[in-house]
Amino acid sequence: MERDSMEFDIVCVGGGIATLSTVLRLLKRIKQSGLSKEKPSVLIIEKSENLGNHVLSGAVVDPAPLAELLSEDERKNFPIESPVTSEGFYNLTRTDSFKLPWVPPMMHAENYPIVSLSSVTRYFGKLCESAGAEIYAGFSAARLLEENGKITGIQIGDKGLDKDGSKKTIFEAGPNVMAKVVILGEGACGKLTEKLITERNLNKGCNAQTYALGVKEVIEIPSRPEQKGSIIHTFGYPMNSSTYGGGFIYCMSDTKVAIGMVTALDYTNPTINPHDIFRLFKVHPLVREYIKDGKVSAYGAKVLPEGGFYSAPDLVTDGAIIVGDAAGLLDSLRLKGVHIAIQSGIAAGDTLFQCWEKNDYSLPMLETYSKIFQETSGWKQMHRVKNVRASFAHGMLPGIMAAGMSWITGGIL
Ligand SMILES: Cc1cc2nc3c(=O)[nH]c(=O)nc-3n(C[C@H](O)[C@H](O)[C@H](O)COP(=O)(O)OP(=O)(O)OC[C@H]3O[C@@H](n4cnc5c(N)ncnc54)[C@H](O)[C@@H]3O)c2cc1C
Repeated sequence: MERDSMEFDIVCVGGGIATLSTVLRLLKRIKQSGLSKEKPSVLIIEKSENLGNHVLSGAVVDPAPLAELLSEDERKNFPIESPVTSEGFYNLTRTDSFKLPWVPPMMHAENYPIVSLSSVTRYFGKLCESAGAEIYAGFSAARLLEENGKITGIQIGDKGLDKDGSKKTIFEAGPNVMAKVVILGEGACGKLTEKLITERNLNKGCNAQTYALGVKEVIEIPSRPEQKGSIIHTFGYPMNSSTYGGGFIYCMSDTKVAIGMVTALDYTNPTINPHDIFRLFKVHPLVREYIKDGKVSAYGAKVLPEGGFYSAPDLVTDGAIIVGDAAGLLDSLRLKGVHIAIQSGIAAGDTLFQCWEKNDYSLPMLETYSKIFQETSGWKQMHRVKNVRASFAHGMLPGIMAAGMSWITGGIL
């Protein structure tokens, strides 16, 4: 089939925080360098109609990499709902809740920003566009193109197919986008990324990736200023002791609360349903108190990668690099991936800057990305808790104790 073809220097698959950070870092480094060389052309393809539509809102973000990526002015305009003002860690039973006398050190988030992740994604998108990148929202990358073992671009999905895949009268063949390098930031379970990892054996010697499902709601409540900034993490009910997961309540503002429940998908009881677990969580007396008289304003469910350090694949192949959740770069113990996505983006942006400077996008140049990323605090955190997830196979309490031990010994145990 004849397809139109476009050419860019860099094409990003997915308009999430990881690719946007990559592009922002690259274009900022170029501007700061003052070099008169022509800037690379950059295209970001996002399958949702608007940037941020496929991102679940209501997140607590570790702000560590923000100062590295954003200028002072950009940080002032960074869309924060509220800083975290109080935090609690609770064990729930069916009818009661017990607050632990301390919050485990790895869960501490005091003063961290509580954000709408969709708003942050749109904000990063605007910064990328002002820096010169192009964003095509509403288009999905359908496959990677390759020539002689090198990734050379992507094919955008066809439009106007019916549910059996037959062409309708409005059929339009998706164009090819050729590029010197493809940045894969599709998030967890990315279609193109998973195929690439399998075909190129990029996960050789790694544990198989494991996933959890997060079900989340944002609830509008009558104004309760005293709640604003409180965050709570829970374990125990409604999860049984052999299933890994937990709940969270993030009071984003006087009138908005994000609540959610994360269920690991390696559960052994086949009757478990993550959505039912979430509904039981919602009517627990502790949770009810925070959302009473409220109305759901947003709802979503999304997978997150949980395999951690031992499941992270090679991040680079000839012509492509993988950033953020697509590579499983997430600290599942803390339920935090945004800062690691930003750090992987910064590492990728710095690498692409060197490629642009030297006009060399070869594999050895791209491999710099893994080296830079391995020096980040996010990767070191993933290393520190590398054995923790496995300890939860023995139940929730042994898992929590193992997490504490791992933290104290810096990941040795
Ligand atoms: C329930 C839940 C709660 C969470 N809470 C927190 C929290 O409080 N703090 C925190 O730090 N982290 C949290 N996380 C993790 C955080 O959301 C992720 O780590 C982060 O969003 C990863 O960013 P990313 O850019 O790698 O991927 P994503 O945010 O998933 O973005 C990927 C983008 O790529 C697009 N895409 C995918 N495939 C294609 C394709 N083929 N073509 C075009 N576009 C494509 C998607 O539509 C999406 O917009 C949470 C996750 C979940 C599920």
